[in-house]
Amino acid sequence: MKIILLGAPGTGKGTQAKYISVKYHIPHISTGDMLRKEIDKKTNLGKIIKSSISKGKLISDDILFLLIKSRIKKKDCKNGFLLDGFPRTLCQAIYLKNKNIKINIVLNFIVPKNILIQRIVGRMIHISSGRIYHTQFNPPKKKGIDDVTGEPLIRRKDDNVISLKYRLLEYRKKTVPLIKFYIKEKKLKNLNYYEIDGCKNSKEINNLLDKLFFENKKN
Ligand code: AMP
Repeated sequence: MKIILLGAPGTGKGTQAKYISVKYHIPHISTGDMLRKEIDKKTNLGKIIKSSISKGKLISDDILFLLIKSRIKKKDCKNGFLLDGFPRTLCQAIYLKNKNIKINIVLNFIVPKNILIQRIVGRMIHISSGRIYHTQFNPPKKKGIDDVTGEPLIRRKDDNVISLKYRLLEYRKKTVPLIKFYIKEKKLKNLNYYEIDGCKNSKEINNLLDKLFFENKKN
């Protein structure tokens, strides 16, 4: 199964991606995580990426194409993968289509803007596993510490109100046309497209996804 997760920052894509990846044994490919790893390497490319990400700007399509191309070539993607954060522009969606990468399901997570801001400003992350916490809605057992490894949690540099405003603007400008593209693909019966209410609690969304995947397997 090849799945794409769409949704503005803070809609819960990352949390659900972890669930789907573990339960259905498909690799979770987060372009945001891949770009942050490139920043950690402190290469020239990493420096360019860092400056754009901290401002909430999108990285150029060409860089993303290189990253995605080499990632989905790997052996673990043979039976499918879950794209989280890619595509984010119409050009990126057309790239997948032109490469004959047949997507089965697109899940679009929807959450009102005021809730997104609350979620993002309280978000804390365990870098190596990608586990996501929230100071209020999903606090770790011990403040600032990952429940599983005991390692410190971090706040993403772009998880602040100013960057978030820019990220939401970018989302509206560049990603909304992409949603229209996938709705059209659904009408052409090329894939299934679902809108998910990201305000539901995590367990409810897990159950809903299980039902959707079951239906898709049957068809
Ligand atoms: P995320 O972790 O998905 O919220 O991504 C963090 C940041 O990485 C975004 O705000 C963008 O600056 C950059 N980024 C991630 N994926 C893409 C993409 N597909 N195209 C362009 N920029 C991206």
